[in-house]
Formats: sequence, C-alpha cells, structure tokens
Amino acid sequence: MSEGIYLDNNATTKIDSDALNAMMSYFTEGYGNASSLQHRAGRTASHAIDGAREKIAEILNCEHRELIFTSGATESINMVLKGVFEMYKTKGNHIITISTEHKAVLMTCYSLEKMGAEITYLPVDADGKIDLNLLENSIREDTIMVCTMASNNETGVLHPITDIAEICEQKNTLLFCDATQYIGKHALDLSSVSIDILCFSAHKFHGPKGIGGVFFRKKTRSIGIPSLIIGGDQEHGHRAGTYNVPAIVGMAVALQNSVNSQTQVESLRNYFEQQIEAHIPDIHINGRNTLRISNTSNIIFKYTRAADIMQHTPQIAVSSGSACVTGSKDPSHVLKAMGLSDEDAFSTLRFSLSKYNDKEQIDRAIALLTTSVSSIRSRSPIYKLYQDGLIL
Ligand code: PLP
Repeated sequence: MSEGIYLDNNATTKIDSDALNAMMSYFTEGYGNASSLQHRAGRTASHAIDGAREKIAEILNCEHRELIFTSGATESINMVLKGVFEMYKTKGNHIITISTEHKAVLMTCYSLEKMGAEITYLPVDADGKIDLNLLENSIREDTIMVCTMASNNETGVLHPITDIAEICEQKNTLLFCDATQYIGKHALDLSSVSIDILCFSAHKFHGPKGIGGVFFRKKTRSIGIPSLIIGGDQEHGHRAGTYNVPAIVGMAVALQNSVNSQTQVESLRNYFEQQIEAHIPDIHINGRNTLRISNTSNIIFKYTRAADIMQHTPQIAVSSGSACVTGSKDPSHVLKAMGLSDEDAFSTLRFSLSKYNDKEQIDRAIALLTTSVSSIRSRSPIYKLYQDGLIL
C-alpha cells in the first residue's frame, strides 16, 4: 500500500514503531486480563498498565492516581461534560465553552441544553482567539465549568490556557481542557497550570486508535463524576470495561517518543509555509497572527475550491475541515466563527505534519499543489475576476 504524502496528522497518525513493538508482546504473550490478579498472566498485564500510567503521569507531571484510561477523547469529553453537569446540579447549570470547539464538545453541549443546561458559546476573533475579559465576565455564580480546547484541530490556534486557568481559579470554576491536539505535540506540566480536568487521545500522537485518558486533579475527585460506562470496577469504578493492555502500553511509549520531535516538526511546518507562499499566489494562512501548534497550517486558496485541489492531488492526504465533519456540505464551523465567508471556508485546506514527514515530501507536495492550483485557476472565471480586482 503506497502511503503517498501524508499531511493529515490532526485526523490521525501513523503508529510509532517503538510503541508498536512494545504492544506486540501483549497480544501474543502478556494477553492476560489485567483484572485477573489471581494468576501471573493477569498480574503481568496489570503491572504493564501500572507502568504505562506512571510513565504518562511522569510526562504530564501529575500523579498516576489522577489518570483514568478511556477509549479516546470523545468518550472522555462525554464523561466529563455529562458527569459534571449531573453532579453540579445544585450549584448551577451554566457551562462556558468556545464556538470553535471540536464537535465532540459542541454536540455534547447541545445534548446537555436539551436536558436543561445553559451554555455560553464564546465567540472568537479573526485569528481564532477568545477575549479573556469576555470569558471572565461570562463566569457567573451558577457557572459550573469552563470547557476549552488547548489548541484547535483545524487551525492549530492555541488558547492561552495558563491565563484561562488563572481566571477559572480566581472565579472558583472548574476548568476542563480538551488537550487532544496539544498533548504529544507540546510539553505540558500539569503541576504548574491549574487545569482541573484534561483529556487526551493516543492516536493523535502516534499511539494506537481507541485509547486515551482523562486527568482529574486530585482535588476535583470529590466531585465523584459518575461513570459513563457502567460494569466492572476497573479504574476504581470510574470507567468499566476490560483493559486494552496493548493500547495502554503503546500510548505511553508513543507519548514519550512524540514530545521530543516537535522542534523538528515546527521547522518543517515553517518551511512548508515559506515554500507555499513563495510558489502559490493569493493564499492566506489562517491564525497566522497568533500562536499556533507546531504542526498545523490552515490555508485559504482564494477562489480555488479545496475539494477540487484534493481531487487534482490524490498523492497528498490532506483535509478540508476536520475529519469528523468530512462529508458535511456545510462550511467549517471553526472558519465561519473566525468570520470567513463561505467561499473562503470552502477554499481552505488543513495541512498537519508529523515526525514522519521530511523536506523531500514537502518539496514534492509543494510542486504538486502548485501545478494543480494553477491548473484549476487557469480555467476559473471567478478567479480571473478576483485577479482583476473586480471581486474581493
Ligand atoms: N477533540 C479534538 C480537539 C479533536 O481533534 C478530536 C479528534 O479529532 C477529538 C476531540 C476526538 O478524539 P477521538 O478521536 O479520540 O475521539
């Protein structure tokens, strides 16, 4: 199977080879059930989970008891939002989130609204940034939680999570951070940022799919969030279901290996942007004026439909919008929230790089994109009008 040039790493990533190796023996030999502590096979699996939990806790600088393993970020988000809403009913029903959140957050918020929650969706500016004063002023007596992503999956725009955490702490409101696109790409020291709850997902940092976790700061344990998945008493009753030992082991190794490669990824992303600007006219990099995650580049190709570019360059795996909304006929809600016209939103591609990309691939991708964009535009009356200054 030819991989082509894979630039869709915010959708998912290739498994890290060390992670894959570490996982293999838990399929073939250490396949015991980690809850069957009566025999050695079970204890071996259980120790593997303990080791992985300690490794992840060390990387995030938290306590291993503060981590709960889940099937990924979508489950974690459902668990936290629904759980906090349920447990905090006596304090209030108001949750604050951001209009550019991932669908896993937005759809869960919509479902909570039907159950009586009041949700404030904070707007963003043209760069995808929120107004911290507006956030502070939106927190009320009955606000039970602020839910914000650390970095946006489409644009890579970073929210000032340390400042947000300080505001939430001062206002005595829980902060839940969807760090799915952040963990594994940037280092995070949980001992120095007062995030109360945070989620992550292994397949975004070269770990296996279907595994992730939630960090619950010890002091928030008292909330006693009800388990979304009920059954056995794995994870001290917080998340039932037989442990996926190979995946948990793989996630820890992948996390350990991923953070160190980010400087290399960032220089490659900067090289990509420099090259694309040098070769293709009339493009705009969304979120460029603000801090962005190291691997992402979200680009408008003026009056050149993203779907057409993708069709003309099948060698490149790239994305228009987020993978979870592919197939949708609507423009990206993230780009619309940043004030883009439908035309610009439909002419935008997301490039997301990883440690498995190199300069040779980027050069090839730029050459392919230059040819296809120029060929599409040469047959486009609307692009001609734009070039002639007759439309904006
Ligand atoms: N949150 C963000 C910011 C994401 O980018 C994604 C996946 O694209 C998710 C949540 C959902 O993650 P998962 O695939 O682990 O359910």
